[in-house]
Amino acid sequence: MVYAPVRSDPTLPPVRVNLYSDTQTKPSAAMKDAMMRAEVGDEQHGDDPTIYELCDRMAALLGKEAAVFLPSGTMCNQIAILTHCRPGDEIIAHESAHIITSEGGGPAALTGATVLGLPGARGLFDVPTLQGAFREKRRNSPPQTLLEVEQTANFGGGAVWPVAQLHAVLEAGHAFGLHTHMDGARLMNAVVAAGVPAHEMAAGCDSVWLDFTKGLGAPLGAVLCGSADFIDQAWRWKQRLGGSLRQAGVCAAACLYALDHNIDRLAEDHANARVLARGLAQIPGLIVEEPETNLVFFDTSGTGLTADALADRVRQQGVMLSTMGKHRARACTHLDVDRVGVETALQVFRAAVAH
Ligand SMILES: *Cc1c(COP(=O)(O)O)cnc(C)c1O
Repeated sequence: MVYAPVRSDPTLPPVRVNLYSDTQTKPSAAMKDAMMRAEVGDEQHGDDPTIYELCDRMAALLGKEAAVFLPSGTMCNQIAILTHCRPGDEIIAHESAHIITSEGGGPAALTGATVLGLPGARGLFDVPTLQGAFREKRRNSPPQTLLEVEQTANFGGGAVWPVAQLHAVLEAGHAFGLHTHMDGARLMNAVVAAGVPAHEMAAGCDSVWLDFTKGLGAPLGAVLCGSADFIDQAWRWKQRLGGSLRQAGVCAAACLYALDHNIDRLAEDHANARVLARGLAQIPGLIVEEPETNLVFFDTSGTGLTADALADRVRQQGVMLSTMGKHRARACTHLDVDRVGVETALQVFRAAVAH
């Protein structure tokens, strides 16, 4: 099996502590209750009041003119790229960007754009690196049209772009004539960690989106924001790709619930990630990257185990972990993992490595 998700092995013990991803959160009873009570209409026809409420709030939160509700973050990225770029264009992003590694080659397949990956520690890059990637504007160069940044940088270890560096990079992009796009899958984690308001974080971005299915705990949904004209164009792609919905207010209600209840508490996830990282760092053979948000990346080389082998061992004890390379593992904290869960997981890790 290559293309379909492999179903979880039913003979495995139940999951006790799920550190696999913040996408694994389940909607709470209160969130489901809000969904049940949502006022709905036909989104595609412009009649869903809950969708409008969510889009208005998101545009205000991120300091943009307009917003559109989409089923997923991947669709936000791909529709933004389709809207900003033409076939043959080149996008500039970090070499570990989600749009390069994890969206099925979407920029090439859908827009016909290539992505130039820049190096840089923890998923970030600086102005000289960006400027070094600018091509002479010649007939035989690919037109460079879009600069993309990820806040937080997922494969960069959940790193937060410092706001000054972020703004400098985006400004350099604009000065060269690029559009700017922020993959804000975990933008609110960055906002909470840095204490910088979301609209300030997103200030230099022509388009930006936020995922509701990561630490915010909703079952589906992401909102893409930008200028009124950009969102108007994005709507055409939403329609074309089949992302134009009907009584989607049920989903938007979950997102509104998340905005009201699940943002400030991200600080708990960050604190749990630090406790987890400190505990993992005390286990002989593990090298742990200092977490800035809710993602804890660590290297298993010194234990003699591959990341997959360690993940299999802890899974037998009910702890779920994801792997990002032969020896690179990722543990993710979120609203369904509390401090007791972190301590339980650490016990399981200690035993698994000592074996
Ligand atoms: C999860 C993620 C996405 C994709 O979001 P989905 O809602 O899963 O489609 C995009 N970018 C980053 C950085 C992510 O972590």
